[in-house]
Amino acid sequence: MIDPQRTIKKVVKFSGKGLFTGESVSLRLNPDAANTGIKFIRTDLPNRPTIPASVGFLSDLSRRILLKKNGAEVQCVEHLMAALAGMGIDNLSIELDGCEIPAGDGSSRIFTELIKDAGTLEQNEPKKIFAVVHPITVKKGDTSISALPYDKGFLLSYVLDFDGAFLHNQCYNIELDEVNFMEEIAPARTFILSKYIEEFRKLGLGKGVTDDNSLVVHEDGRITKPLSMTPAHLRFPDECIRHKVLDLIGDLYLTSVTLRGHIIAFKSGHALNALMAKKIAEVAQ
Ligand SMILES: [Zn+2]
Repeated sequence: MIDPQRTIKKVVKFSGKGLFTGESVSLRLNPDAANTGIKFIRTDLPNRPTIPASVGFLSDLSRRILLKKNGAEVQCVEHLMAALAGMGIDNLSIELDGCEIPAGDGSSRIFTELIKDAGTLEQNEPKKIFAVVHPITVKKGDTSISALPYDKGFLLSYVLDFDGAFLHNQCYNIELDEVNFMEEIAPARTFILSKYIEEFRKLGLGKGVTDDNSLVVHEDGRITKPLSMTPAHLRFPDECIRHKVLDLIGDLYLTSVTLRGHIIAFKSGHALNALMAKKIAEVAQ
C-alpha cells in the first residue's frame, strides 16, 4: 500500500505573540500541491520572500530553530513543524506577517487543532519516506543522537539527564503515530531551566513568555509558572521530557522526509537535532 502525500483541505488562521520576540504575528496555513513541501512566506516583506522548511536554510540554533533565506527569516518553527510531522502533512504554504511563529500555549496543541479544523487531504503522489538502513550517529560533548534501522515504523527514545540537578534522570519511548502524537506529545509545553533565565533576558529573548505558555524548572526540582513563579499544573508528570521529544520530532522534519527508524537521543537539544537532520537529509538525497 502506498502512503500518499497530504495537505490540508482548507485555509486556517491563527494569531498570537512569539515566545522569543513578543511580536504579534498572524499565521495562515494554506493547502499546497503535491511535491511542493512545507514553506514559509513572509507577507510583511517586499516581494513576499519564501523560506523553505528545510535544513538547507538553518541559521541560529540558540534555543530555537531559525531559518533564513536571502536575509528573510522565520524563527521558532519547531512546534509547528512537530505538528506537521506528527499529523503527516507533506505540503503546506505558511504565510506569516512577522518573523516568529506565534507561541500558542508553548506546545504543538494549537497547531494540531488548526490542522484538525482544516481537515487533511490525501494527494496523488507517494510520501517521501526515508527508512534508516545504515546507523547514523551524531555527538557533541556528552550528548548524542543515533538513528537505527527499525522496520515497524518510527520509534523515538529520549534520555534526559541534567547531571543530578533540576529533574531526575528520565527515559521516554514512543512508537509514533498520529493518535499517539496528538495525545502524548503535542500538549507538552516548553520549559526553561531557572539557571538560564538571566542569560535569556540579557539576550533580549523570551519577551512573549506568559504564565500560560511555558514552565520553569528549578534546581531543586520544583516546576513553576515563569512570571508569577507559582506552582505549575503539569499536563503530564513527565511533561518536560515529552517536550524534548516534541522538539526532536519538529527538528527532524526539516529533513523534508518522513522517517522510518529508531531515533535514540541522549540529552540532545536543537543544535544537535539539527545536525542529525542535516546528516539524514544528506543520506536521503
Ligand atoms: Zn520546544
